[in-house]
Amino acid sequence: PDGSSAFEYEAEVHKMLDIVINSLYTNKDIFLRELISNASDALDKLRFLSLTKPELLGDTKELEIKIEYDPEAKTLTIRDTGIGMTKEDLIQNLGTVARSGTTNFMKALSESEKNNINMIGMFGVGFYSTFLVADRVTVASKNNGDDTQHVWESLNGEASFHVGPDPRGNTLGRGTEITLHLKEDADEYLSPYKLKELIRHYSEFVTHPVSLRQIKTVKVPKEKDEFDEEEKDEEKESKEDGDDIEVSDEEETPKEPEMEEVTTYEYEQINTDPAIWARDKDDITDEEYQEFWNVVSKGDGGQKAEDWTHFNAECFLHACAASLRDLQSYPAAFSNVSLTRGNINFKSILYVPYALQQGQFESMANGLRLYVRKVLISDEFDLMPKYLSFVKGVVDSDDLPLNVNRETLQESKIIKIIKKKLVRKAIELIRKMANAPMPEDDEVAEAEVDADGNVITPEEKPKEVHPYIKWYQKFGLSLKMGCIEDSANRDKLQKLLRFKSSNASGDDDYITLEEYVDRMKEWQKDIYVFPGESIKQLKESSFMDAFLDRDLEVIYLTDAIDEYFIANVREFNGHKFRDITKEGVKFSDEDDDLAKRRAKVYTDKFKPLTKFLKKLYGSDVSRVTISKRLGRAPAIVSSSEWGNSANMDRIMRAQAF
Ligand code: ADP
Ligand code: MG
Repeated sequence: PDGSSAFEYEAEVHKMLDIVINSLYTNKDIFLRELISNASDALDKLRFLSLTKPELLGDTKELEIKIEYDPEAKTLTIRDTGIGMTKEDLIQNLGTVARSGTTNFMKALSESEKNNINMIGMFGVGFYSTFLVADRVTVASKNNGDDTQHVWESLNGEASFHVGPDPRGNTLGRGTEITLHLKEDADEYLSPYKLKELIRHYSEFVTHPVSLRQIKTVKVPKEKDEFDEEEKDEEKESKEDGDDIEVSDEEETPKEPEMEEVTTYEYEQINTDPAIWARDKDDITDEEYQEFWNVVSKGDGGQKAEDWTHFNAECFLHACAASLRDLQSYPAAFSNVSLTRGNINFKSILYVPYALQQGQFESMANGLRLYVRKVLISDEFDLMPKYLSFVKGVVDSDDLPLNVNRETLQESKIIKIIKKKLVRKAIELIRKMANAPMPEDDEVAEAEVDADGNVITPEEKPKEVHPYIKWYQKFGLSLKMGCIEDSANRDKLQKLLRFKSSNASGDDDYITLEEYVDRMKEWQKDIYVFPGESIKQLKESSFMDAFLDRDLEVIYLTDAIDEYFIANVREFNGHKFRDITKEGVKFSDEDDDLAKRRAKVYTDKFKPLTKFLKKLYGSDVSRVTISKRLGRAPAIVSSSEWGNSANMDRIMRAQAF
């Protein structure tokens, strides 16, 4: 536009635009999701600010998203009445790498085989997906902090964009209007059916109304203009001049009004029932839950949710008088909130994902959305401990004050109470997954033929693995972290753990600690554990001889975290974890007296050898003794009971490079 200036994109942004534009990626649809989610974010920001400053809403009270298509001009327009952008915002947000999003996105793109542009939104560069479908993009925006409405414009492939005052003046009042000039091959986005399908798919649960302007042709009675009237009159006159009888007949039956087609527009709201969590769970299908999972997981590369729990919770505050005081100290924006009621109700849906998400452990935001009366307060609220950060979902409470600032709320006792409840619910959900019966195989077992034409009999078919085991293989680490960090829930969490042992060492074989304890020998007090690098190495180790000989089950520990786990958690149901590579392992099935006498004989007999070896190894070893527990191996190097195990030393060496 006139009076606009050109700005260079940051080099990184330009590089990324090149990739997006030249990508052969077939799922271009995601651009709409990105634009709607940006519009929704902008509306959330405004709504949040307006809670304390209602004057921000000005004349534009509706918070909504409107989408229009124009088949003639080949444009698609997305308009929102959100916070809008100032000139500076337009330059900053749509031209530079505000965060490291661009760099990370490009790294991820080059690492994955397929150019998975679907993930673009996760990296904070979703806006640029518009160039998948458009050659030219115009963004008009008006923010309360700027008197002038500005336009940002960019042509596909150019290294610069333009920003200037909008020649149309202030048409928006407030908010943002994004116009896409669609590419030749992007005509499909001019179809109302396609658009409706996409909006429904991506934004069913967006909390703001999303409407599509549809073009309707309707038949209306043709309006009579003066010229018509005159003609009629003439006709009449001419008829009156002619045969009298015919004329009277005609005039008794009123004439059908003449019709004409006119084009009108009609907005239809596409997302009609956004707050799924407020609905009765019996009326919600699994598909609807999975769709909502897409919303809370921000698309997460198309992965499904493993399981979920939907509940109403009631937390009583009487046990915690401080909480009431805590609540009452907030400036009460909503005087109808009765704080003396003594309890906090909230609704929640918690999801456990099927797979780990990108950057799971780096990101602090744990993806629980906190709503107060369906207004989004935050989607990075710290409502779950770190070890449960994979749990996503919503929490909506009618009883929290809306206008409280996030920092204060985070520290409030009420949030602590909600948190405690959420953690319990999440653990309960995982327990339910673990205890679920093996899903039925609905196929009748019969011989199959594989791709090479070999017949596979039902017995040869790979053993079914319980879904929890598959899930545990991805998330077990988090649960072990939980056992270390969350001592209040340790007992419950330990029961969710799965281990490999000398009785179960196949790829998908696992035991629970409860099973181990059930199988312990009558005299056995400790749980024998063997930390090391690999199952194979542990199985073949000489440390195992004495245990295999006595038919004692040993738990194999090959995760790096296991050493910290046994050092911190120390026991299960009163049974200590005993590292079999350390001193102090006793087999109490032995006759104590006999063992002592035998040990004394051997100690005396081999004194020259042990003395010699101690001299030989010097300070590399602390002691050389006669072992009571060796089988086939002549000697082993073991650690003192309270020192690091050899495996721990290995891990520590690896961490220190
Ligand atoms: P992200 O949404 O992850 O921040 P995007 O590339 O989608 O990344 O958007 C970049 C930025 O542009 C947003 O953070 C926001 O500041 C701004 N923006 C985009 N669309 C809008 C909009 N409709 N209204 C206001 N600001 C917007
Ligand atoms: Mg975005």
